[in-house]
Amino acid sequence: MSQTFKIAVLPGDGIGPEVIAEGLKVLRAVETLVSGASFELVEHAVGAGEYLRSGDPLPPATLEEIKSADAILLGAMGLPSVRWPNGVEMTPQIDLREFLDLYNGIRPIRLYHESHSPLRGYAADASGRAIDFVVVRENCEGLFAERRTPQTEGPDFRTDTLRITRRGATRICRAALELARSRRRHCTLVDKANVLPSMAFFRELFDEVAREFPDVHTDRVYVDAMALYLVQRPHTFDVLVTENMFGDILSDLGAGLIGGMGLAPSADLGDEFGVFQPSHGSAPTIAGKGIANPIATILSVAMMLEWLGHPATVRGATLINQAVQLVLWDPSHRTADLGGTMSTTQMGDLVCQSIG
Ligand code: ATP
Repeated sequence: MSQTFKIAVLPGDGIGPEVIAEGLKVLRAVETLVSGASFELVEHAVGAGEYLRSGDPLPPATLEEIKSADAILLGAMGLPSVRWPNGVEMTPQIDLREFLDLYNGIRPIRLYHESHSPLRGYAADASGRAIDFVVVRENCEGLFAERRTPQTEGPDFRTDTLRITRRGATRICRAALELARSRRRHCTLVDKANVLPSMAFFRELFDEVAREFPDVHTDRVYVDAMALYLVQRPHTFDVLVTENMFGDILSDLGAGLIGGMGLAPSADLGDEFGVFQPSHGSAPTIAGKGIANPIATILSVAMMLEWLGHPATVRGATLINQAVQLVLWDPSHRTADLGGTMSTTQMGDLVCQSIG
């Protein structure tokens, strides 16, 4: 049966609108090719630009409208020049994760062409040295947990709290182990259990949940060692699960291994809502130049279609993933971040032409 999906589109700041335009172009290309699904796109102004206009980067009325959508597609938010009085940037994308309880941050790291990686000897195929892992980031607590509550502070210090709850840790570990079950059945907990009591608790809960998954091989690695291993032997990992801040850092490191932020998509999932966005920020230094790589956004559109779970959208996701693979298989297809000359729109057009 044919179904119309309502997609809330939040282009945001910096390169956000530029890469979202290409993601939508690809979505429309899929819509014309695959029968059974259509998309109603509803755009909303959110981000630093909206703060400058209305005084609120994520107005409550907008949030309510967003909640009525089947899925949310986001570009990038925040600008270094637009800050709250305490000095931190506007981050409505983080607010959204908390408001919509999007605890499950999925960040696939996959090498599409060996020449994209700064590492030697890695492959983009199913060989033993392929880089193909997923960082599962706990999105709603960890070191970001108390960021909006006033912390203990004095004239000469500020404190941030790393909070791990039984509920939060259990559900993210279960999500990661389930994901591993659908992949190569290997899940690695990344923590700092040797130093921080909150992390020792996280490990205890991971061990508890892992017992429900005897078919998944598990191991445990300290976050500092993981930074080393991801550079030395990224091909040995499948699913990594970790707290908020560690996941933030390791997913950027992962993106570095495969060619940069322009190739790293993400999904922030809860039990009810899903927000899909490139892992990168608003990249203000390249905004407006038409050179941003739209692939991370295009792959995020594929993740959205997969998550929507209709046979037609799942087929659409496969078509997009195949098209991206085909395009990037040719090393001459590069935007500036990969050392090439293609513009944002040229890359988007090429993916569209390669679909089907
Ligand atoms: P945030 O904290 O909001 O995630 P950030 O400060 O970590 O953002 P990004 O905006 O992600 O920074 O940019 C990091 C680097 O990656 C910058 O050099 C930026 O130009 C580059 N970059 C990010 N996205 C893209 C893209 N789509 N195409 C090309 N380069 C990109």
